[in-house]
Amino acid sequence: MSEQTNHVKVMIMGSGPAGLTAAIYAARADLEPLVVEGGQPGGQLTITTEVENYPGFEAGIMGPELMDVTHRQAERFGTRFIYGAITDVDFSKRPFRIDVEGTVYHADTFIIASGASARLLGVKGEDTLMGYGVSACATCDGAFFRNQDVAVIGGGDSAMEEAHFLTRFAKSVTLVHRRDEFRASQIMQNRVLSHEKIKVIWDSIVDEMVGTKETGLTSLKVRNVKTDKVTDVPMQGCFVAIGHDPNTKVFRGKLEMDEKGYLITNPRANKGAIPATATNVPGVFACGDVQDAYYRQAITAAGSGCMAAIDAEHFLAEQED
Ligand code: NAP
Repeated sequence: MSEQTNHVKVMIMGSGPAGLTAAIYAARADLEPLVVEGGQPGGQLTITTEVENYPGFEAGIMGPELMDVTHRQAERFGTRFIYGAITDVDFSKRPFRIDVEGTVYHADTFIIASGASARLLGVKGEDTLMGYGVSACATCDGAFFRNQDVAVIGGGDSAMEEAHFLTRFAKSVTLVHRRDEFRASQIMQNRVLSHEKIKVIWDSIVDEMVGTKETGLTSLKVRNVKTDKVTDVPMQGCFVAIGHDPNTKVFRGKLEMDEKGYLITNPRANKGAIPATATNVPGVFACGDVQDAYYRQAITAAGSGCMAAIDAEHFLAEQED
């Protein structure tokens, strides 16, 4: 990187499995990538416990350790890292202009691996009590709720998975779902519905999370959407599992995205063109959960990170021709 112009060949946003794998490949191709680590260095795996389905680790590996090792692997080949949020981008001409909290960088190619973040309910008390009884990650915080009553909000596979996981610790687990049926897969539903520790409050939403930082969460105000009746349900833990939002705010109006904000990659697929991670702006690529609401696995994110680095490398080579 030139010190005077902050100019790089490849800039990567995000340091989860997608970003770090892109970095390993770009670094090994001598492209000297610069990774901007966002608000959650290492990504979502840093808030999980054991990862059992990442190939190569027969006995499983802890999520944070997997990310540490991958980070070091990227560093070993010359990847540089900076911390900070990308606050603005200008993709109207190359090199692209990237603003990282006031410091401007110029990049010949840009790989977006900014991932997705857990969605929250936005109800009264949620913000204040986050970390004080309210959580968006059962695997991270479940063990704090030994022999306590906890709720899980949502009706998808994540909610089922979290509810089932929490039965290891909690005295009782109450699923609160806004409709009268789950959208989760049948196998996950069966596992939950047949569990003696789990009960379901159907057709209901949480209006308020009650408690203070001193007391922690003490109850949930749960409203039945059919009768409008509000019930105060005593609860020490509440896990919000209502899906994720892609981290694409800074790209609104600048890159094509779907109605949920996921970046659209490979707009040229129908024409048989190759770069699967290409966005609608030539030279800007996307990989991992930021462009994938479906698979959302560490290994698929890593695989697409590899693809993005190869796509960026080919793009740069084409520019030189
Ligand atoms: P999801 O499938 O989008 O489910 C989100 C759930 O939260 C839905 O039940 C939805 O209710 C509810 N919800 C959304 N906004 C809400 C709000 N404001 N208030 C109350 N409830 C709200 O998300 P996900 O469960 O995180 O799963 C995402 C993807 O990952 C899915 O494709 C899933 O199959 C996959 N996944 C798979 C596994 C697995 O197989 N082991 C595990 C986790 C995730 P409605 O149903 O009424 O819309």
